[in-house]
Amino acid sequence: MNKDSKYESIFSSRDSDVELPKYKMPEKESAPRVIKELIRDELFLDGNARQNLATFCQTYLSDEVHELMDISISKNMIDKDEYPQTAEIEERCVSMVAQLWNAPDRSRSVGTSTVGSSEACMLGGLAMYRRWRAKRKAAGKDVSRPNIVTGPVQVCWHKFAAYWDIELREVPMERDAFYMTPENMVKYIDENTIGVVATFGLTFTGKYEPIKALSDALDAYEKKTGISVDLHVDAASGGFLAPFCAPHILWDFRLPRVKSISASGHKFGLAPLGCGWILWRDAADLPEDLIFHVNYLGGNMSVFQLNFSRPAGQIIAQYYLFLRLGREGYKKIHMNCYKTASYLAKELEKTGLFEVVYDGNPEEGIPAVTWKLRDNAKINFTLYDLADRLRARGWQVPAYSLPARAEDTVVQRALIRHGVSRDLVSLLMQDMNRCIDYFKTHEIVSHVTPEEGTAFAH
Ligand SMILES: *Cc1c(COP(=O)(O)O)cnc(C)c1O
Repeated sequence: MNKDSKYESIFSSRDSDVELPKYKMPEKESAPRVIKELIRDELFLDGNARQNLATFCQTYLSDEVHELMDISISKNMIDKDEYPQTAEIEERCVSMVAQLWNAPDRSRSVGTSTVGSSEACMLGGLAMYRRWRAKRKAAGKDVSRPNIVTGPVQVCWHKFAAYWDIELREVPMERDAFYMTPENMVKYIDENTIGVVATFGLTFTGKYEPIKALSDALDAYEKKTGISVDLHVDAASGGFLAPFCAPHILWDFRLPRVKSISASGHKFGLAPLGCGWILWRDAADLPEDLIFHVNYLGGNMSVFQLNFSRPAGQIIAQYYLFLRLGREGYKKIHMNCYKTASYLAKELEKTGLFEVVYDGNPEEGIPAVTWKLRDNAKINFTLYDLADRLRARGWQVPAYSLPARAEDTVVQRALIRHGVSRDLVSLLMQDMNRCIDYFKTHEIVSHVTPEEGTAFAH
């Protein structure tokens, strides 16, 4: 007998009296409320998302967003024939994003929602590759050795290069410049370069790459060599920050060389997980051979996303957020985060132990703080030890080393997003100071290794 009486309490039921099967599907059914409760309990062992200062992604979601997600749970984004209104809502979002990113001619730009920036970047990269290949073939030139030039990029670009056999030329960081400088970029470009990817909100520090200066350098390069190299801006974070908080920074379609832009709706777009955007300046920048036409959902549909079926709720929630917040609301939320980041940077400096590498300034990057240990700090702990100790109170503040040529620099980073309030950060600082005091009175026998350290969330 494995039936749960409806009067039985969950924790005295037969189903709760045993360990749940972990790797083999049980033969018999169980009571839904019991199984749900036991799974919910197991999920307590996960980190608390709101204390996770490693992630760039949205972890605060209002009741209205939850309700919209709930009523959208069965809607399939791909099925534009069955859900024409959802398709229309996606199109409206694309239009709003095109405006935010200053597309010169809305009737010519094209775009789509995606699952996130990774899918968006993959599409942007592919379009770039096909454009380069078509141009080279038309000129009767070799297309066997494509390369892509980037600064310190997010892992999705490593995947892009690996999947399509394109040489990734990741311009190494310098000790004093943790980004791609125009001078360095130009050294890596040649006729086989399918394009340059500039990151507007670097994963490693949170800073914006100087998109305008990179674009100018590519203009100069074209003048000198006759080779025109396109720019894709990976604005995963910055795409929903700068339009509100630093609208004068030239990073978007106002620069003619920028052919496509991608961003994560689920980062500073404030949408729930599973929402990204990509736009091309002009329909001509999205090669026809990447667009497929299907008739089996009824109607004639063109698809160029990597996924077919995918949930529509996050796109609907994104639309809600655009309408509900407007430019004013986004600006207020994000500027508050910048203020909180600046507070955290100051508090960290007050300890005398840390040097702030980036203090979360709307003119320079995203609301995040990145710091390292002062060279002369008289301490017995590493940032890995500190991250590990903070974890005991539930905080996830990752420590990690920077990429090539700066790998001896270990930094720690905190993302200040919607819902990471000034008060929450003051509680973090209290715990941080407690950890520092702990290390003063406890000898460390064996340091936490980078491998054991908190995972570096991108
Ligand atoms: C987060 C991020 C990505 C990947 O985005 P997802 O939305 O997580 O797929 C790509 N590039 C940059 C710069 C990022 O910050």
